[in-house]
Amino acid sequence: MHEIVEKERLNEEMTRIEVKAPLVADKIKPGQFIVIRMHEKGERIPLTFYKKDEDKGTIQMIFQKMGKSTHELDTYEEGDEILDVVGPMGTAAEIEEYGTVVCIGGGVGTPEVFPVAKALRNVGNEVIVISGFRTEDLVVCENELDKDCANELYITTDDGTYGREGFTTDVLEELIDQGTDIDLIHAVGPPIMMKVIAGITEEHDIPTRVSLNSIMLDATGMCGSCRVEIDGEMKLACVDGPEFDAHKVNFEELMERITMFEEQEEEALENWKEEHEGCCG
Ligand code: FAD
Ligand code: MG
Repeated sequence: MHEIVEKERLNEEMTRIEVKAPLVADKIKPGQFIVIRMHEKGERIPLTFYKKDEDKGTIQMIFQKMGKSTHELDTYEEGDEILDVVGPMGTAAEIEEYGTVVCIGGGVGTPEVFPVAKALRNVGNEVIVISGFRTEDLVVCENELDKDCANELYITTDDGTYGREGFTTDVLEELIDQGTDIDLIHAVGPPIMMKVIAGITEEHDIPTRVSLNSIMLDATGMCGSCRVEIDGEMKLACVDGPEFDAHKVNFEELMERITMFEEQEEEALENWKEEHEGCCG
């Protein structure tokens, strides 16, 4: 059992939890993730670690309320316990001195980018962070990015209520147009954002890696549900990734596969909301 030692609702959609998991905290590296199961009847959901504290033996995650499981997780309070926290899963992000690295986070991809950007900065890279949200109320991690990761930080909102109006890709194009010498791009966010980034950077020959959030069940390479096509070859995002060369990803297939269970997911959320009437929005 893993106690939730701290919980903070960041906004209507996103919540940060700090969970006791000393063995995971000891080993987990930027870019890796964990799989949690809340209780015996719970499904397994993958979440990327956001921060860790080896002394306290805790890891932190930021999750966005999407469907049944994340709504349920959001009802857990400080002192409640999660049945399983399994990890570290996946391969760690490669952290080397590249020069200038642009880290791009879209929505809940921003907390996933955070530990990677921080590690890249710590080994001496010039780190430019571009972080995009739909609207002002959903902006998270700005202070942390500013303090720990970014030599330069750009926040964008789709509706222009905060930071620059537009998409993360608009800022990226601006940086390229201004002649910024970019040695590497690391991006995490909605598949469509990562696809557009891959298109832009391929044209400019900028090495680009993306972390793919395909559907994972066991996350140990057995079930195959997270399979993705990389350079024409079948790979498993859970064990071969989640990070891949953006220019080799078949994004069309990825976008199709992540909506595979939409009907069942909607039904599960409806049923759950009926059973827990009044508990959540
Ligand atoms: P559902 O209604 O079941 O699904 C909503 C949508 O979430 C689906 O359409 C699908 O796109 C996705 N999804 C559903 N089940 C899974 C699954 N088993 N695995 C992956 N995606 C699924 N989300 C965060 O908010 N924060 C994170 O740090 C984070 N890290 C992730 C890291 C990895 C490696 C992966 C693969 C996913 C990550 N996700 C993260 C996505 C998160 O796992 C899903 O949002 C969550 O499983 C949705 O569960 P649900 O029952 O609430 O929603
Ligand atoms: Mg689900």
